[in-house]
Amino acid sequence: MIDLRLPAVALLALALTACGGADKPADAASDAPVTIFTGGMIYTGLDEAPTAEAVAVADGVILGVGTRALIEESAGDDAVIVNLEGAAMYPGFTDSHAHFLGIGMRELTLNLEGVRSIEALVAILTETVQDAEQGETVYGRGWIETGWPEARMPTRDDLDPASPDNPVILRRADGHALVANTAALEAAGIDDATADPDGGRIVRDAAGRATGILVDNAMGLVAALIETPGEETKRQAYATASKVYAAYGWTGLHNMSVEPANANMITALSEDGTVDIRVYNSVDEPGLDALAANGPQASNNGRILTRAVKLYMDGALGSRGALLTEPYSDQPETSGLALMRRQDALDIFNRAIAGGVQINTHAIGDEANRLLLDWYAEAFAANPEANDLRWRIEHAQILHTEDIQRFADLSVIASMQPSHAIGDLYFAPDRLGPNRLDGAYAWRSLIDAGVIIAAGSDAPVERGDPLIEFYAAVARRGLDGTQTEDWRPDEAVTRAQALKMFTAWPAYASFQEHTLGTIEPGKRADFTVFAKDIMTIPEAEILSATPVMTVVDGEIIYRAEK
Ligand SMILES: [Zn+2]
Repeated sequence: MIDLRLPAVALLALALTACGGADKPADAASDAPVTIFTGGMIYTGLDEAPTAEAVAVADGVILGVGTRALIEESAGDDAVIVNLEGAAMYPGFTDSHAHFLGIGMRELTLNLEGVRSIEALVAILTETVQDAEQGETVYGRGWIETGWPEARMPTRDDLDPASPDNPVILRRADGHALVANTAALEAAGIDDATADPDGGRIVRDAAGRATGILVDNAMGLVAALIETPGEETKRQAYATASKVYAAYGWTGLHNMSVEPANANMITALSEDGTVDIRVYNSVDEPGLDALAANGPQASNNGRILTRAVKLYMDGALGSRGALLTEPYSDQPETSGLALMRRQDALDIFNRAIAGGVQINTHAIGDEANRLLLDWYAEAFAANPEANDLRWRIEHAQILHTEDIQRFADLSVIASMQPSHAIGDLYFAPDRLGPNRLDGAYAWRSLIDAGVIIAAGSDAPVERGDPLIEFYAAVARRGLDGTQTEDWRPDEAVTRAQALKMFTAWPAYASFQEHTLGTIEPGKRADFTVFAKDIMTIPEAEILSATPVMTVVDGEIIYRAEK
């Protein structure tokens, strides 16, 4: 249904392009051909005028939004019409936490995402090892034992028969644990006597024998065996990731834990047209000083922006690396791993504030989140002249309920991944017991407290599908509809809130709300088009809404085949 009561926003003067953040001068737009997107429901993301019939675009910028008659009349006869054919259009969906290189590498290396048992894992491995060269390390990622009939992680004893000679390293989907076979452990010099490194764990069985599972910093012990991708492979990975993501319907992503050199490569690939989608980079900590000295780095087409640093406070819940205030309910001898110390953190924070660098820190456990809020607060208090910092906590999964309001009070953004909740809630009750679930994945409580949530997928940890994420946010159910009281159904969000979590709020969380995040005149023409109206269809149908078209700067970068 088109809301004809919508007050049409007249085509604004073409000079508006000047404030659209465009790289071209305002008068360049006057000759640019006008394209009109119409023929389906259009959601603007604006509370005061949530829907429209047509959007006019020229030179990558939105010129007008309103009724079809008015937009067509104002645009003139030369305008090109893009017919939505009944599909629904939204502001560009942005994945606020993803790993761009990993998304591409997932396509280029052994992908274990769909594996449903240890038996199936071993079968795929056996096949892969047959094609490997002598001595070559077989590397794969994406396995997750949740729901497996064996109900445990794989060990080196599972892998050894499939690969007695080639080292094998298979990373768990969350990226915080891996399983290595005996050949890999031996090549890395790990035996039963090797001590756990700081912030990591070599998992051992009851007899003290290393099982092959390495958690968090212990993964570094075998890192040298994994071939880091060469320049050409990286370029291929980024090109692939851009295509894969555009085909899912994302117009952009916030790229986490980026090697500083890779940020430059992405910029070059955007400028030569290999990478189409927008990328907002959070570089690794060694990039802090350069970023602080040089300020934010943007590509000359405006699509790539680097102005943040990513840090780690703890590990993940699945591998019991998340730092908890009280011990794990299903393993009382551990409370998780702290990966950062207060003094180091404050030193980094002060340098970041001085250089205008945004800090985005991974924190999953309740203790990790509490300490991080303490340390952020300490840094903010020590730099009272600094404002509009927009620092983020990545994941913010398990919170003490008393800490929820502190996000709002400190203006800290929560960067959360709805699919983590629907994946984790199968095992979170075991890890945490019943009482700590109140502040777990507490989207609704955070929003009600006034917190901005920038939502994402954490791909390749999760699939990286905006429809799965949107569904998870509004349904808070497994993909098969599963939900129990432990899942805290009240923490689901409304569809209007979910839309903001993937559009307007990611724009704010990357300092780009003046140019991105809503469909209104003067902003960049970034649109996501799904076959169905996900704001109104029954919940279960959201998963099959299918992307139809993805538009960045008015350019159609993906179009589904009919
Ligand atoms: Zn991540």
